[in-house]
Amino acid sequence: MRPFDYMRAEDLQAATEAKGNGATVIAGGTNLLDLMKLEVMAPERLVDITRLDLHNTERTSGGGLRIGALVTNSDLAANPDVRRNWPVLSRALLAGATGQLRNKATTGGNLLQRTRCYYFYDTAMPCNKREPGSGCHARTGFNRIHAILGASDKCIATHPSDMAVAMRALDAEVEVQGSGGTRRMGLDALYRLPGDTPHIETSLAEGEIITAVILPPPPTAATQVYRKVRDRSSYAFALVSVAAVVAMDGARIREARLAFGGLGPMPWRDGEVERALEGQEPSDALFDCASDILLRDAQGQGSNDFKIPLARRTLKAVLREVTRTEAPA
Ligand SMILES: Cc1cc2nc3c(=O)[nH]c(=O)nc-3n(C[C@H](O)[C@H](O)[C@H](O)COP(=O)(O)OP(=O)(O)OC[C@H]3O[C@@H](n4cnc5c(N)ncnc54)[C@H](O)[C@@H]3O)c2cc1C
Repeated sequence: MRPFDYMRAEDLQAATEAKGNGATVIAGGTNLLDLMKLEVMAPERLVDITRLDLHNTERTSGGGLRIGALVTNSDLAANPDVRRNWPVLSRALLAGATGQLRNKATTGGNLLQRTRCYYFYDTAMPCNKREPGSGCHARTGFNRIHAILGASDKCIATHPSDMAVAMRALDAEVEVQGSGGTRRMGLDALYRLPGDTPHIETSLAEGEIITAVILPPPPTAATQVYRKVRDRSSYAFALVSVAAVVAMDGARIREARLAFGGLGPMPWRDGEVERALEGQEPSDALFDCASDILLRDAQGQGSNDFKIPLARRTLKAVLREVTRTEAPA
């Protein structure tokens, strides 16, 4: 690990000023410190934000939920209101990492954790995300965990967060604060596709810090499911995951919100898949049609080709579960 300066911010203004002047934010440190030890990231200055008043989870006046950026993954998963009204979020959190990690990991840090691409982690290898312009060996190398949607010829890394997948299905917004004040944006606006600049992962400005995540009021009469497919039953990142929030109206699907992990550089959501399901009676043919839409532009890179049929099977299994329809014999 390279030497670095450390400061602890006592208020938000000090934190945003420090970040605006080039410091890297440290929250739980469960991702950042690993990357610093491997010298994948080598910040000269850290600003520790853990003393800021961002540890609370509370209802908003509109009936939604405001989750402070420093609420730990453990506390959020165990929050009775979250478990009752946004269970997909609790389940996604509990599917991630381990108890010890979740005790340290924070809401803001989880959203901004870096990819687990092996080539990003290996400083002996070129990586356009770590070192712009150096190349991407994942495309022609071992790419079992890599993206099948939204990738570019510069980068095929996936976003590893489980929590963010559930938040995307729940239409969460991120509240950020910087020198220009406070603003809110959806996760689709927070994350950027890699394109030609995979090192620019978010739309956060230099001095901006995530202060909270806002969930809209709980979906009414919806079934919420998070299903994660991975190599081991714990302590492993998703190969494919699906967060589903689906409401029925009699025999028909009234509303479907679906987000996917392990498939792309950001938690993936495709409105066309949802529109194809809404107003329809559940059937295997309908679920096949939804999968076709989701995967119409999917591209395997060799070792990750299996993700295309796996995503289809996982989506169909989740849709059967949330609409309570049986798999054909
Ligand atoms: C062995 C292992 C297994 C794991 N398995 C999973 C898994 O299965 N699923 C999963 O989802 N995650 C998994 N994780 C990742 C874990 O969830 C993240 O490391 C954690 O959520 C990051 O939170 P943190 O507070 O520790 O972030 P930090 O490490 O402190 O920071 C991460 C990044 O976010 C930035 N940052 C942090 N907070 C803010 C803020 N408020 N505003 C602006 N920038 C900020 C930091 O500068 C840094 O770049 C695993 C981690 C490990 C080590």
